[in-house]
Amino acid sequence: MNPSTHMPLVYIISAPSGSGKSTLVSKLMKLVPGLDFSVSYTTRPSRGSEQNGKQYYFISRDEFEQMIARDEFLEHANVFGNYYGTARRFLQEAAQQGHDLLLDIDVQGAQQIKRKLPDAISIFVLPPDRRTLERRLRERGEDAEQVIQRRLVTASREIENYDKYNYILVNDRLEESIDSLQAVVRSERFRRLGGPLSEEQKQILVLADRCRLSNIRDRVQPILASFAIPAVTGGGA
Ligand code: 5GP
Repeated sequence: MNPSTHMPLVYIISAPSGSGKSTLVSKLMKLVPGLDFSVSYTTRPSRGSEQNGKQYYFISRDEFEQMIARDEFLEHANVFGNYYGTARRFLQEAAQQGHDLLLDIDVQGAQQIKRKLPDAISIFVLPPDRRTLERRLRERGEDAEQVIQRRLVTASREIENYDKYNYILVNDRLEESIDSLQAVVRSERFRRLGGPLSEEQKQILVLADRCRLSNIRDRVQPILASFAIPAVTGGGA
């Protein structure tokens, strides 16, 4: 492909915290060539082993607001009282390199990107049920009880938006979820290229199609019920 004419495929991945998204994303990045990770800017302090420029660019509120004023963000949002934003330059860099781009952003950011880039491919990661999410949050050992309870409330609110996404990934067994996520990314690339598919590519397409919103509603209903979210009918990304 000629990099100068390359329009990157933009993949958005969102999930409530504790659903295993970070692990999925880091595994995916190792498995799929030509996929850049958009390192977000944030005003929240770094945690544990996080490094500036790797998981995030950690900047001050002032610096963030200056970037907003210079229109340097493709989207930005306030999440848990801190700013988070996706810099436009990552999209330009991916285009120049002939790469695609992965954004790990929240529901608000995903909606902003979808308005600006309607062809962006959005993926929502769901935990298998509320109890499993609660257990994972506890096992992580990062948060006090009060914070865990707040995260669970926030999770329900985020999950309510699942049907605005193109693909839903229920993160039950890690290896299967990675295969499905990889299938989604690769199948969208086949679609862009067009042309006949090999048997292996057809299998990948089948695996990806299983995660399409329209094909996964039955699987999602008990998960919504565990979060006391009423089922939605119709709609979709
Ligand atoms: P954390 O602070 O736990 O790393 O992330 C909190 C939330 O912010 C996650 O849902 C994450 O996806 C989201 N997030 C990270 N970067 C961005 C960004 O650039 N824009 C938006 N809108 N959300 C982001």
